[in-house]
Amino acid sequence: MTSSPDAAEALDLSVVIPVYNESENIPILLEKLLPVLAGCAASFEIIFVDDGSRDDTYLQLAKAHAHEPRVKALALSRNFGKEIAIAAGLDYARGAATVIMDADLQHPPEMIETFVSFWRQGYKNVYGQRTDRTADSRLRRLLTQRFYKLFESFGETPLPEGAGDFRLLDAQAVAALRAMREQARFSKGLYAWIGFKSIGVPFDVAPRVYGSSKFSYRKLTRFALDGLMSFSNAPLKVWSYIGTFISGMALASAVYFVGETMLFGVDVPGFASLIVSVTFLAGIQLLSLGILGEYIGRIFAEVKRRPLYLVGDELGLSARLADDPVANRKRSEAS
Ligand code: UDP
Ligand code: MG
Repeated sequence: MTSSPDAAEALDLSVVIPVYNESENIPILLEKLLPVLAGCAASFEIIFVDDGSRDDTYLQLAKAHAHEPRVKALALSRNFGKEIAIAAGLDYARGAATVIMDADLQHPPEMIETFVSFWRQGYKNVYGQRTDRTADSRLRRLLTQRFYKLFESFGETPLPEGAGDFRLLDAQAVAALRAMREQARFSKGLYAWIGFKSIGVPFDVAPRVYGSSKFSYRKLTRFALDGLMSFSNAPLKVWSYIGTFISGMALASAVYFVGETMLFGVDVPGFASLIVSVTFLAGIQLLSLGILGEYIGRIFAEVKRRPLYLVGDELGLSARLADDPVANRKRSEAS
């Protein structure tokens, strides 16, 4: 690879940062991040993925790029959501390792030094582990906790506790993620699913510097559903058990009623119980149809085979690695 015309190929470290309306945070973040990277990598790039921001985030990125060409940017054509913005960034990341982090300084840049030192020891999936979630609201913490309990009990892919997007991935792990083009992306599940030699590094989540969380409860609910549905078939399967149980009960009661009628004659029929059982069953059926619908909707999204995202504009980036399996192979061989 010595005669490679593309000097960018020999990059040590890439940092992928999804941004959505983060214009105030960008300069402060860069001020902290650049010295850290200079201290722990021979060469690096920072790839900001502008996820359809409505403020002047992209303008800030252009300024930063003019000032420091190692700051690069990708603007998606609209807001695709953080998960897809990360996937887009990974498609362009050329580093022998890639760090993923948030732009709001909730992920302390200094941690990258520790990540890199673990990577040099041979770990390929080094994740930050939140020690506390006090930066989040009470309700969000409660719901998050419930969600992870639920995810665990359906348990097809165990998630390490407190692990999120803040992490370092070796090029080999990045190539693995790049190969997964699913639309309903639950990155935390994907990071766990790919495996590789992993280690958690505890860190404290600072409060957001500017602005507020870009995740409404509605967005979080969708995200939680995506996570459960793409990593578990349990919600689909549980209905056959419930259905069998309910039908069994219905059959038993039918036998009972036949016997009762034969022995004691016809009673005045109880409308109340009839109505209750009919509506109960109708409810169960609608619910199970809804669950099927959730899965079918996701299947539909996948079979359309649309691209994950569309790029509107870019600054300083070379070709997308996702379209180039040979480049992917080279990268992982190089590491
Ligand atoms: N983000 C994004 N697209 C979105 C929502 C968020 O790229 O649709 C980015 C956001 O700019 C930030 C990161 O994802 O860099 C984390 O978002 P946020 O801080 O709002 O999430 P929280 O910390 O509340 O989980
Ligand atoms: Mg945040």
